[in-house]
Amino acid sequence: MARVGGDEFVIVLAAVKDGADAALAAERLMRAMSAGFVVQDRSLSISCSLGISVFPEHGADGETLIKNADAAMYSAKESGRNNFRFFTDDMNAEAVERLNLESSLRLALDKKELFLMYQPQMDIATGKITGLEALLRWQHPDLGLVPPDKFIQIAENCGLIVPIGEWVLRTACLQVRKWQDEGIPAVSIAVNVSAVQFRQEDFCELIRRVLHETGLAPQYLELELTEGLLLANADVTFSVLQELKAMGLTLAIDDFGTGYSNFNYLRQFRVSKLKIDRSFIRDVAVNPDDAAITTAILSMAKSLNLKVIAEGVEDEAQMSFLRAHQCDEIQGYYFSKPLAVDKVAGKLRSNSPEPRARAQASGGQL
Ligand code: C2E
Ligand code: MG
Ligand code: MG
Repeated sequence: MARVGGDEFVIVLAAVKDGADAALAAERLMRAMSAGFVVQDRSLSISCSLGISVFPEHGADGETLIKNADAAMYSAKESGRNNFRFFTDDMNAEAVERLNLESSLRLALDKKELFLMYQPQMDIATGKITGLEALLRWQHPDLGLVPPDKFIQIAENCGLIVPIGEWVLRTACLQVRKWQDEGIPAVSIAVNVSAVQFRQEDFCELIRRVLHETGLAPQYLELELTEGLLLANADVTFSVLQELKAMGLTLAIDDFGTGYSNFNYLRQFRVSKLKIDRSFIRDVAVNPDDAAITTAILSMAKSLNLKVIAEGVEDEAQMSFLRAHQCDEIQGYYFSKPLAVDKVAGKLRSNSPEPRARAQASGGQL
């Protein structure tokens, strides 16, 4: 057995008959790891992910076997940790794609290939834009537009999300400040925060510095955090959130309902807003289960005095449902797709109540 990196180990099993034997060994290892450890009187529990490559099917030499086991481990991690996977050829293709993306992502910031789109959020009662969400885009020279789902995780795994996230924050704050200076009715800007960024020791300091440098007042900045982020960082979360709140920022829970909801944190962490995940909204008007979950979130939020915004609202049926159940805000194609920066000012200037929403907010007909 060898330690090849921070928390990575390679184990060579020289005496296994076949893959099934290797799987048995992997299970034994995982069981042993899950038992928990006592370190300086604290009991720690960890999980592990295992990738397996078998000689000679998956490689004729050590280098190839290790590379392929690594790709398999990556895939095991992606499928939810505490897991093992055998190498398959398509993992190799994925690993190559990932490496390629990672190396061009390293240059993307300097080469100015990253940019932001802004998606308006609408107050259901007034039809007015109350905020914008900044959404990151990557214009790759060969691959074209790469969606965030394809590169954010890579950026998180290699740490690039820290400088990229800082760039997003600064660019978004600067832009909103610029619109304010141009006399455009002020709205707030929501910025997505990755768990890796949040875990940085100087995260609060960064926020403070960016607000100071851009001159944006803190009440216009909203941070979108996920349930996973809050729970994974439980040890530091509380003090960081308190500090952010004290600065005057708004905190929203993104993709609400999809993580391991621990309602305790809603009480403890004093978040202001829940964003109901798109997966519940998609069929909210036709699927009784989704409708029940959405209604439950809305009534819980109401009693906890939290604002609720529904994500991914695409049609009138979803909108009517949300209006009827007193959801505060919506974001989605029904109101507006994410907009390029030069399209936003116009939209904000005409930020008077939409005729349709106004009519319905006051109970009128279209
Ligand atoms: P999210 O924060 O939940 O953002 C909402 C996503 O839903 C966006 O996808 C948006 O374009 C999409 N969307 C909005 N309205 C609709 C609709 O009506 N229908 C459908 N089908 N989709 C809609 P996008 O821009 O591809 O972003 C995906 C995810 O990537 C985001 O989910 C967020 O988690 C992450 N992301 C985006 N920008 C950043 C960033 O700057 N930093 C970090 N850490 N993550 C980001
Ligand atoms: Mg978001
Ligand atoms: Mg979301």
